[in-house]
Amino acid sequence: MRPDILNPYFASITDLPGIGPKLARPFDRLLGHEGGARVLDLLLHLPSSTIDRRARPTLSQVEPDTVVTLKVHIDRHAPTPHGSRAPYRVYAHDETGDLVITYFKGERSWMERLLPVGEDRWVSGTVTLYDGIPQMSHPNWVVDEAGLAKMPQIEPAYPLVEGLGHGHIRRAVDAALARTGELPEWSHEARGIGFHAALAQVHQPREPLDADPLGPAWKRLAYDELLAGQLALALVRARTVKAVGRPSVGDGRLAGRILAALAFQLTGSQVAALAAIRADMASGDRMLRLLQGDVGSGKTVVALLSAATAIEAGRQAALMAPTEILARQHMKTIEPLANTAGLRTALLTGREKGRARSAILAALEAGEIDLVIGTHALFQEGVAFRDLALAIVDEQHRFGVHQRLALTSKGVAVDVLVMTATPIPRTLVLTYFGDMESSELREKPAGRKPIDTRAVSTERLDEVVASIGRALSEGRRAYWICPTVEESEKSDLAAAEARFEDLRQHFGDRVGLVHGKMKGAQKDAAMAAFATGETRLLVATTVVEVGVDVPEASIIVIEHAERFGLAQLHQLRGRVGRGDIASTCLLLYRRPLGEIARQRIEALRSSEDGFFLAEEDLRLRGEGDVLGTRQSGFPGFKVARLDIHGDLLTRARTEAADIVRNDSDLTGERGAALRVLLHIFERDVAVKLLSAG
Ligand code: ADP
Ligand code: MG
Repeated sequence: MRPDILNPYFASITDLPGIGPKLARPFDRLLGHEGGARVLDLLLHLPSSTIDRRARPTLSQVEPDTVVTLKVHIDRHAPTPHGSRAPYRVYAHDETGDLVITYFKGERSWMERLLPVGEDRWVSGTVTLYDGIPQMSHPNWVVDEAGLAKMPQIEPAYPLVEGLGHGHIRRAVDAALARTGELPEWSHEARGIGFHAALAQVHQPREPLDADPLGPAWKRLAYDELLAGQLALALVRARTVKAVGRPSVGDGRLAGRILAALAFQLTGSQVAALAAIRADMASGDRMLRLLQGDVGSGKTVVALLSAATAIEAGRQAALMAPTEILARQHMKTIEPLANTAGLRTALLTGREKGRARSAILAALEAGEIDLVIGTHALFQEGVAFRDLALAIVDEQHRFGVHQRLALTSKGVAVDVLVMTATPIPRTLVLTYFGDMESSELREKPAGRKPIDTRAVSTERLDEVVASIGRALSEGRRAYWICPTVEESEKSDLAAAEARFEDLRQHFGDRVGLVHGKMKGAQKDAAMAAFATGETRLLVATTVVEVGVDVPEASIIVIEHAERFGLAQLHQLRGRVGRGDIASTCLLLYRRPLGEIARQRIEALRSSEDGFFLAEEDLRLRGEGDVLGTRQSGFPGFKVARLDIHGDLLTRARTEAADIVRNDSDLTGERGAALRVLLHIFERDVAVKLLSAG
């Protein structure tokens, strides 16, 4: 039930004076509410800019091409002669100079009423110099002294649709503000200006900053919108979490053995991530955590140690990767460590068939496998666990959310850890994964050397091939990446094969090939040959993009670098620089290089910090595209802008968490105010959840 206090906000805009059925139509279009825009929709339609009318120079002081408000004496009218295209001119002056006011069409009696000869008028608009004489064409405002008092000094300008002018919107907004009142304060953070007062300030600015997204009023509204979103997520989460939580507490016995078997010390951020994961798993709430780390930052070890916790608690864990290569890669890294610690592991992908598959399934169900690693084959029908407690999902955004759910449905109250090697900017984590906690592996493991990144035009291909030849004879190993994209897959594949043949002419059997259309066994064989050093130059389409780990590889050539996104280039580059040899990345590009492509390559050369590059990627591409595809159904924002208000998100999230911790049923006065907030920003699904208990 919507609180009564909101009734004026949710009234139809046709209730406002001056908006009849005819004007309602363009308003509905403007506000995106076919057949029924409400007063609130109008109030949340914020100005796109402001026009500052405060400058009141004399005519001699006027700066051309600026907006000014001038007091002038009207001298004479020069109407357009019949049959002429000349404008209607009105001559005026002040004590410092002359002004010509022009209209393209003017009806004489109307013009003479507007600008009566012999009287003073204020005119506001842009002055231009025409043959050295100041001219104002179609003043925005023509008023007398009484009218001047009503003219907005700072006039908001709105996005418009056909059939509506600024005057329509301004009058409607003024009426809407007059009919709605201040609402009870819901936030402890956004103090200083109330919600309604903030709306009034943005729509009726006294200073340009009042109507600026960076100003305090707009920020307050943006904060409210973000708080509503975060609060809704937190409420939903508190309810789902409470229903299904199941603590898994380990005794550290297996983790201790794994740590002892590692050839290295965990980094500080690995330790911190593990502590957070263990705390989540031990709590009565269900874990939903994102583990973000650049390529090579060491997520796999964290995953294994998390699995160990579930297994120490007598339960099972599953690790799901998006491709078979990656699943095998994880298996290869994990298996020796797991064996040392006495964990029973198994691999389950589409390639395990027949009796081998049946045996794995039986063992899983009997609890004879502790950790299963696989692809989406893991959540197919017929796969059952004895007691699955932890699902680790690598490279989340290649899976849909429903796939994540399918896996968790294989157990009771399954804790979920999502790993991603595409660092997601903080602002986007909160909006897209608002219901997830996040741990970041920002430190690179000790001993990593910086990668020398260079951009080379394809015109210098011969030189590149020659230098690869030298490196190969020094015993080094290199990737040669060719892009594949779905739209042009056939020709891309052909290009990769042609490159392979070409390089084989130079380097013979030392060259291998792996691409997405190969059969699993063939792919494995090609990867294995490269890993053992049997082949030393691996031509690959983007199948090697994620996760593949051959520490001996120290050179990567990326063909058509201009066709890749920044995040993807960073991913690819991460295939090298994993061992102790100084590595090189050559970005081969085809001229002419577009501006965005140039900036991408420049960013990549300047940094190896995936989180920084993710922010750059966001900047270069515009938000929304970072995850590849915009998640459909994600509720958009009306007033908050992530590029400007992103920093408010963290605060909103903290406040939402506090609220839910103290009063998850939204009771009392503040609770009532918060329900109002959720309605305003249409997060009332969360309110329904509350009433359902
Ligand atoms: P990611 O999955 O995050 O790309 P991996 O887990 O595959 O990274 O780790 C990359 C390499 O770094 C592996 O060979 C791994 O054994 C090694 N590694 C992981 N953690 C550390 C550490 N703390 N110190 C040194 N090497 C590490
Ligand atoms: Mg990995």
